[in-house]
Amino acid sequence: MGFARKEYEFLSEIGLSSRNLGCYVDGTWKANGPVVISLNPANNQAIAEVVEGSVEDYEEGMRACSEAAKTWMQVPSPKRGDIVRQIGDALRTKLQQLGRLVSLEMGKILPEGIGEVQEIIDMCDFSVGLSRQLNGSVIPSERPNHAMLEMWNPLGVVGVITAFNFPCAVLGWNACIALVCGNCVVWKGAPTTPLITIAMTRLVAGVLEKNNLPPAIFTSFCGGADIGQAIAKDTRISLVSFTGSSKVGQMVQQTVNQRFGKCLLELSGNNAIIVMDDADIQLAVRSVLFAAVGTAGQRCTTCRRLLLHESIYQIALDQLLDVYKQVKIGNPLEKGTLLGPLHTSESRKSFEKGIEIIKSQGGKILIGGSVIESEGNFVQPTIVEISPNADVVKEELFAPVLYVMKFQTLQEAVEINNSVPQGLSSSIFTRKPEIIFKWIGPLGSDCGIVNVNIPTNGAEIGGAFGGEKATGGGREAGSDSWKQYMRRSTW
Ligand code: NAD
Repeated sequence: MGFARKEYEFLSEIGLSSRNLGCYVDGTWKANGPVVISLNPANNQAIAEVVEGSVEDYEEGMRACSEAAKTWMQVPSPKRGDIVRQIGDALRTKLQQLGRLVSLEMGKILPEGIGEVQEIIDMCDFSVGLSRQLNGSVIPSERPNHAMLEMWNPLGVVGVITAFNFPCAVLGWNACIALVCGNCVVWKGAPTTPLITIAMTRLVAGVLEKNNLPPAIFTSFCGGADIGQAIAKDTRISLVSFTGSSKVGQMVQQTVNQRFGKCLLELSGNNAIIVMDDADIQLAVRSVLFAAVGTAGQRCTTCRRLLLHESIYQIALDQLLDVYKQVKIGNPLEKGTLLGPLHTSESRKSFEKGIEIIKSQGGKILIGGSVIESEGNFVQPTIVEISPNADVVKEELFAPVLYVMKFQTLQEAVEINNSVPQGLSSSIFTRKPEIIFKWIGPLGSDCGIVNVNIPTNGAEIGGAFGGEKATGGGREAGSDSWKQYMRRSTW
């Protein structure tokens, strides 16, 4: 079926049409749930229709998936690694189209859309190496003539629930590792990015089919909270990896805990950048700009709080206001755009509501603060001067709103950094080693990501990604995150 607009025709190259079935169940595309329309956030016009899955579709998919797990976990892990390598190769051939789709459906700018798909390719490469290193250990036994070993086995089925803002990279962080560890994957993408869920699934399914493997090794559903809840409750799913808001994440965790399942949480952030009096101000300003405005403030690692030392407060703020005035706002697919739209008209309303609350709590808007009249969900990049103690500062407003505050000492800045419920990412700009070591030490930042002289956003897949406190405590991607996707036995 043809697309409403010529510029959407590239979608047929990644297996999409104007009407799509949203569940991949045991090698078949089907769906018996409601029909939803995927919208372009830049103009709120339809891209294509998707039929979502029903709970019955889920049940059928899960039956096949748990059956497939018995086959997949017996494939030697380097061979599983080779399948993930082939997924990486398939992604390379469709990098441009998939990146364009991410930009079109989510609303982030094109280089970020392509970057997101590249991140999965990198995860594939990482996981191929990992597939030969799922090593256990030999432990000295205290008993004579005994040996003691530690061994890692697959969990079975891993459930992955993802958020709209990274509609495919987060799947990649989880699925690449889960698959080489010998697990089948059940994925529910975000309800507002169903085309990305379908396109990614088609690509993975193609690789499984080419290798004559059970298709249910990778099972996926477009849908909302009902499918998410079914995953959380399902005793056949040993690990649920959830990415999204702290509010929903807490509900999911409680449901999974009730059945003694394992949960890996990647939840909301509220990230600060501290600029010390000795910092390279130009470097800091450039970093803050992209950390606060990039992805229209819809990254979990977006910089939401800027803490400036009192002696450089005005000079740094003036430079920042200056670069904010030059931000190019527009179609995320157009070259040169830095700030695209918010993802939905609901997000735009939350921005407006947020600005009202900010004002009512004493916040002073220094720049921005309004929605932009247009068909799309555009808002102005905003800087607010506000007290670190205002209640609104403790919450994550998922929009390009930056709170600026003043401090006098490092200790005070670290206290402000740590004073919010969330603990994802943080950064300090300084040239002094003694400050850096305090910052990364036991009395420094309480976040999972502790940066120096780089922004809060952007993470390398080689490190473990995740945060503390209300961010959920999970760690994904690199380092030894793989251990969460396996069960350890001591024998
Ligand atoms: P959200 O919590 O609204 O939704 C996330 C996912 O949960 C979606 O797939 C949704 O359909 C599903 N869901 C909703 N209700 C459910 C339920 N009752 N049971 C099970 N699943 C349910 O989040 P969002 O608006 O899509 O994403 C933005 C949030 O995600 C922000 O808070 C952001 O900080 C966070 N996030 C965190 C990370 C991280 O790595 N820490 C990464 C990306 C996004």
